Amino acid sequence: MTGPSSTCIFCQIATSSTSTQLLHTDEKVVAFQDINPSAFRHYLVIPVKHIATVRDLQKTPEDYSLVNHMLKVGQMLLHRDAPQCLQFRFGFHQPPFNSVNHLHLHCLALPFIPRWKHVKYMPLGPLGGFIEAEKLLERIRPSSPMPSKV
Ligand SMILES: [Zn+2]
Ligand SMILES: [Zn+2]
Repeated sequence: MTGPSSTCIFCQIATSSTSTQLLHTDEKVVAFQDINPSAFRHYLVIPVKHIATVRDLQKTPEDYSLVNHMLKVGQMLLHRDAPQCLQFRFGFHQPPFNSVNHLHLHCLALPFIPRWKHVKYMPLGPLGGFIEAEKLLERIRPSSPMPSKV
């Protein structure tokens, strides 16, 4: 395969060509633990398909349902693995604050460990920083009505 996927570490993880233990896999997304956790539980959910950043998402039913699915998988994993937690955070770093150029949803079950890490996951306004998954979904919601699920 040519293109970004051959060198992208997250593409390699998504195709199971690394030793990273996957917490969830399906045809659209995979999930695994953040290598450098910032909270009691800290998972990443990534699309199998290489999408660089939130800026590459379009207002299409495909992209909308992909992000929605990433969020659902993250919620399911944290509710399973951190049922005692009362606070969760789900979101994306916007360029240039993103670490890896392959879209990844940060799924955090709080508290932050160590506590100062929370600054990395705070919304810094519309232009930068961290965007919560719900906000991103609002931004890419297709203007035409969603096709109804069968
Ligand atoms: Zn990739
Ligand atoms: Zn990140």
